[in-house]
Amino acid sequence: MTAVAELMDYADVIERFDPVLGLEVHVELNTNTKMFCGCPNQFGGEPNTHVCPTCLGLPGSLPVVNGKAVEGAIRIGLALNCEIAQWCRFARKNYFYPDMPKNFQTSQYDEPIAFNGYLDVTLDDGEVVRVEIERAHMEEDTGKSLHVGGATGRIHGAEHSLLDYNRAGVPLIEIVTKPITGTGERAPEVARAYVTALRDLLRALNVSDVRMDQGSLRCDANVSLMAKDASEFGTRTETKNVNSLRSVERAVRYEMTRQAAVLAGGGTVTQETRHFQEADGTTSSGRTKETAEDYRYFPEPDLVPIAPSREWVEELRGTLPEMPSERRKRIQAEWELSDEELRDLFNTGAVELVQSTVDAGAKPDEARGWWVNFLSQEANSREVELAELAITPAQVARVIALINSGELTNKLAREVVRGVLGGEGEPDEVVEQRGLKVVSDDSALLAAVDEALAANPDIADKIRGGKVQAAGKIVGDVMKATKGQADAKRVRELVLERVGA
Ligand code: ADP
Ligand code: MG
Ligand code: ZN
Repeated sequence: MTAVAELMDYADVIERFDPVLGLEVHVELNTNTKMFCGCPNQFGGEPNTHVCPTCLGLPGSLPVVNGKAVEGAIRIGLALNCEIAQWCRFARKNYFYPDMPKNFQTSQYDEPIAFNGYLDVTLDDGEVVRVEIERAHMEEDTGKSLHVGGATGRIHGAEHSLLDYNRAGVPLIEIVTKPITGTGERAPEVARAYVTALRDLLRALNVSDVRMDQGSLRCDANVSLMAKDASEFGTRTETKNVNSLRSVERAVRYEMTRQAAVLAGGGTVTQETRHFQEADGTTSSGRTKETAEDYRYFPEPDLVPIAPSREWVEELRGTLPEMPSERRKRIQAEWELSDEELRDLFNTGAVELVQSTVDAGAKPDEARGWWVNFLSQEANSREVELAELAITPAQVARVIALINSGELTNKLAREVVRGVLGGEGEPDEVVEQRGLKVVSDDSALLAAVDEALAANPDIADKIRGGKVQAAGKIVGDVMKATKGQADAKRVRELVLERVGA
């Protein structure tokens, strides 16, 4: 057991220090084949079935660059507003680890394919922070080790380790930010928002399936603190194993409070990698960090340099989709949303669902109302994502149509939606089976109105005498009698008609 780290109260951290962040995001490209060989690039599979002499690093094998991966790298660079290198090379990053059979990783070092870009990131309250990108470079993924026999699944305490090279050589793009300064107490939120924005961008580019849970999107969070009067950055730690967006925020926050306690106690922060523990939100010491010199980088002699023509780069620029930040602006204008409405729409993750509901015939504000309010609450109480609810945009659109035609009141509509969510079938079937249609047949309503008037002769007199507000009581009784399935406005008209007011 390692000792529990001392932590400083977050408000005190902010008062005494300025955090500096650096985010390194690795994204696995969704190419058909690996980076330097023709093996399939597929998640999972029987161990060691997607391998060949090249990705196993056998003597005499030679790599060939995957053109589609280069194309993906350039498109990512362009989407991140980077310059694209006229000419660049791969480099060998030399180190030994069993999951990397060549004993070096083919990567890029001082000649990345894309550099000097930025990504505008929107925080929860709508504030936009520009995160500067230092570089996006191409490399290959390593294999996977499985440590067997220990309690933690880590190498310490394991009896033996198994290796699966299916992932070895999968194309990776590493996207590195410049140091992010000036975010103060919002640093953890900025970190999460950046990775979220990057994920959305990569998804829009269709270059990766960006699954943090499966490792196709991975984030390492560098964090350091500067005392308020300091002029140089402090020593950073690099936290790995951050497997969800929420964890990015938690890991940064934890490191800030831990480093602050170390510094305030007169200690120094060790430059090292740290591991994030999902279970308790803490980080623990990994290995002390190698410096670049330790890797003995040198240009890869087995691969030709990459010199993308300007024509090709411009052609790829033409394939960029609408960027998420522009999409936000367009949706806000098209659907006439306030900043707050826009924020709720995105924070609930309802955009696509609302769009599909609109495509199925609903008006944007109606569709938005259902997904952002009622259905979001239903998703929350069931602890599932909005998109996982057992109702489709077409079904929501149908419910909205039933309201607009007067066949359902809002209250009845909510019941219908609950029925659909509960697996009772299509909206129309739920209406039928639960008998939820609005009673629009005037004769049925009139019978109920007459009954209510007869039961309350004094009120009937008042209405007759001109006190039309008194009709509320009668309307209420009729609604009760019809189990809320009447249109209250129509009932009121009938009451007034009946007493001749
Ligand atoms: P490494 O090879 O150690 O992973 P990289 O250059 O790939 O180094 O990434 C380091 C990341 O940390 C970059 O995002 C960089 O901007 C950031 N960074 C550098 N110095 C600091 C610091 N003192 N505090 C926080 N982040 C830093
Ligand atoms: Mg790095
Ligand atoms: Zn291979």
